[in-house]
Amino acid sequence: MDDRCPLCNSKKETINHLFFRCGFSTWVWRSILWRYGSRRKLKKTIQDEEEWLRIHCRSKSQSSTAMKIAFASAIYRLWRERNLRIFEKKSNHKTRILRFILHDVLSRVNSLTLWDSNEVHKVAVANHFGYKLSVKEKELQFCCWLQPELGEFKLNTDASLVDEGGGIGGILRNKDGEIIHVFSENNDGDEIFALEIQAICEGVAVAKSLGLTSLWIEANSSFAVNSFNKRYLPLWKKIPSIQRA
Ligand SMILES: [Zn+2]
Repeated sequence: MDDRCPLCNSKKETINHLFFRCGFSTWVWRSILWRYGSRRKLKKTIQDEEEWLRIHCRSKSQSSTAMKIAFASAIYRLWRERNLRIFEKKSNHKTRILRFILHDVLSRVNSLTLWDSNEVHKVAVANHFGYKLSVKEKELQFCCWLQPELGEFKLNTDASLVDEGGGIGGILRNKDGEIIHVFSENNDGDEIFALEIQAICEGVAVAKSLGLTSLWIEANSSFAVNSFNKRYLPLWKKIPSIQRA
């Protein structure tokens, strides 16, 4: 059998080449990502792409759902195209494959809710995909900083991610709310979860260097908090200077 990739007729066909490295497939993926307003680099393996989706499209929002459908559809459509070329000696142009994928997405998700009419990014996504748009008022959520118990210190951390890179930051305060230490750093990471964890680690390292023996940590990523509580806490208990995380 000819082991060349039927999509480009030049490279050896492997799973990762066929779906993610072939010029034909990468054009399709980039066109999808572009429609989502994303300039991120395409991952090199199917596992890495799945991992990206798991982290970035966890919510049940219409745009996350649309991205997941686009992913599944692209895999299916590329595989179908490959079989069509091998077994039926027919072919479709890459623009046609893209149209099939966009149709798959649109036929399952046909409305998109905007929380704010200034969400330019979502308007662009909606226009590219032909979504119907509806605008809802964003509900205000009130929150306050709670004093740590006597003698304790509190660390609040956060992380953010934009196309150009990420950033982490944190603030360490005593029971009176007085600032002991603040930090903020740019970071070239591209995974929000890793950045959230890094922000917590950075704050804990500072607390440790200051000789603090008890620390209350607050972070707004439930994913990061749960990971710490379930996975890392047993390890941290072994470090004598940090009794509670
Ligand atoms: Zn190829």
